[in-house]
Amino acid sequence: MKVLVLPGDGIGEEITAATLEVLEAVGKKTDIKFEFNHEVVGLKSYEISGTTCPDIVVEKALASDGVLLGPISHLDYTKFETGGINVSGVFRSKLDLYANVRPAHTWRNVPNKAGEDFDLVIMREATEGFYPDRNMFAGCGEFMTDPNTALSVRKITAHASERIARRAFELARTRRKKVTAVHKANTFILTDGLFLREVRNVADEFPDVEFEEKIVDAMAALLIRHPSSFDVICATNFHADILSDLASELSGSLGLAGSINAGENLCAAQAQHGSAPDIAGQGKANPTSLILSGAMLLDWYGQKSQDLRYSKACQIINHAVATCLESAEVRTADLGGPSSTGQFSQHIVNEINAL
Ligand code: NAD
Repeated sequence: MKVLVLPGDGIGEEITAATLEVLEAVGKKTDIKFEFNHEVVGLKSYEISGTTCPDIVVEKALASDGVLLGPISHLDYTKFETGGINVSGVFRSKLDLYANVRPAHTWRNVPNKAGEDFDLVIMREATEGFYPDRNMFAGCGEFMTDPNTALSVRKITAHASERIARRAFELARTRRKKVTAVHKANTFILTDGLFLREVRNVADEFPDVEFEEKIVDAMAALLIRHPSSFDVICATNFHADILSDLASELSGSLGLAGSINAGENLCAAQAQHGSAPDIAGQGKANPTSLILSGAMLLDWYGQKSQDLRYSKACQIINHAVATCLESAEVRTADLGGPSSTGQFSQHIVNEINAL
């Protein structure tokens, strides 16, 4: 499997190194041969080439079977016009990786902030919405009409809403068969109204899947109150981004949440969290999110190529991570444990080798 590796910014280097160790270990167990091709994006790339996302990276991604993408320090980038390109945005919109799949669940023995066990997946549309870098044909969707007035355009299309809804219902069929559509159609009458119209149409095709609708502000409260009542949550880009951080923090830590950006032919594994500059270079980062994202990428590729070794590899990683998280002495600092990033990934590798 050809994987393009892009460590990104902040804690990216550390958690990517940890993830590669785990992938190498699982590759040996399952007879998968990985070819890792390394490229640079983000602030390092900007220093070298004046852009945070060189064209060659996009070309190499298209020639790969999958991408391992670290977090990026987008907040610290210069303007788009001077080379500060949102790498995640490029992958999601230019490469049409429209389905940002973000699971969150509680772990055995790991303290959570929910008060009950839960297991849900947020299906986030990732190519449009309130994201100025991906919602215009030309130009940017955010602008100022005078020095004291800033405007932002939100784009919602039937096509993007329909296909993310379809992915949500297909996924729900393999799980507990329930989809919750999250919206704000009471205020965003046209945009969220269109999103809901498309989700409802898809829901009609899946009579075996329970369907409900929730307004996003109430949803934030409901997620905290009773997260176990949700299975697959389908939402537009911005709403899903916020709710998924909430859900993963409820599960124990933002550092525990895997995620993939999946299109029809390509998939990028990317941690749910950001580049955590406050702990970068200190060996404190929890690599679990990117490791689980890597496992999701293998599962996605296994389904695409109909090769069972990849789903087996995904299961092995998930099992090893769960086992390591169980003991408090093995966890990283965000979960109150003593392990550094590298020590934690070594525990996972040992677990895989011992299987
Ligand atoms: P963040 O997710 O980087 O950090 C939020 C908090 O969670 C911080 O306290 C951080 O230390 C902690 N944290 C995050 N990941 C962790 C991990 N793996 N282990 C332990 N603790 C972890 O959010 P932020 O501080 O708002 O953003 C920092 C930068 O990341 C910004 O430039 C932002 O634009 C960018 N960002 C990138 C992505 C992405 O690349 N997909 C997503 C969100 C934010």
